[in-house]
Amino acid sequence: MEKNEIYYTVNNKKSNELYQKYINKSKYIDNLNFLGRLGDYKYYNIDSAVNRSILLFKELLYK
Ligand SMILES: Cc1cc2nc3c(=O)[nH]c(=O)nc-3n(C[C@H](O)[C@H](O)[C@H](O)COP(=O)(O)OP(=O)(O)OC[C@H]3O[C@@H](n4cnc5c(N)ncnc54)[C@H](O)[C@@H]3O)c2cc1C
Repeated sequence: MEKNEIYYTVNNKKSNELYQKYINKSKYIDNLNFLGRLGDYKYYNIDSAVNRSILLFKELLYK
């Protein structure tokens, strides 16, 4: 049987804890921003993904 490819985030306890470790480490790196499905590790439809990128852009622009 072929291995299935995962298209969606799997938000279980283990993966959410791992994600939180990345976020905690990223706080020590300047100019590193997470967004999008992989970056935020969330299920997004495309409108939410685009909206999220516009909001982050504005946040960084007026920082
Ligand atoms: C099967 C399927 C059907 C969907 N149908 C709909 C729908 O009908 N309507 C809707 O609104 N949304 C739909 N979506 C969701 C939509 O595709 C996402 O919301 C949108 O693509 C998210 O954009 P993103 O930029 O966050 O991530 P992505 O579009 O996944 O972009 C991430 C990019 O990063 C690249 N990447 C990953 N790792 C690395 C790396 N290490 N180095 C460099 N590049 C990397 C990937 O190759 C990819 O190009 C669907 C998704 C899937 C999988």
